[in-house]
Amino acid sequence: MNTEKTVPCLYCQSKNKVNDKQCYHCGMPLALKHPENKSSRLRFFVQAFVLIAFFCLVMVAYLPR
Ligand SMILES: [Zn+2]
Repeated sequence: MNTEKTVPCLYCQSKNKVNDKQCYHCGMPLALKHPENKSSRLRFFVQAFVLIAFFCLVMVAYLPR
């Protein structure tokens, strides 16, 4: 069973190993994301989304109909 993860090249969409720094197909550097960066970005996105949703709920409750 092959559990090795692949990362798609942004330029040619070919699948590269996660550990590779360059695309084996076109040679472009892969946009490798460290798990920490990814999770922190995701957390920031979730926080922004929650803020926006909360703001919308407040406005819906606050604004007269
Ligand atoms: Zn490529």
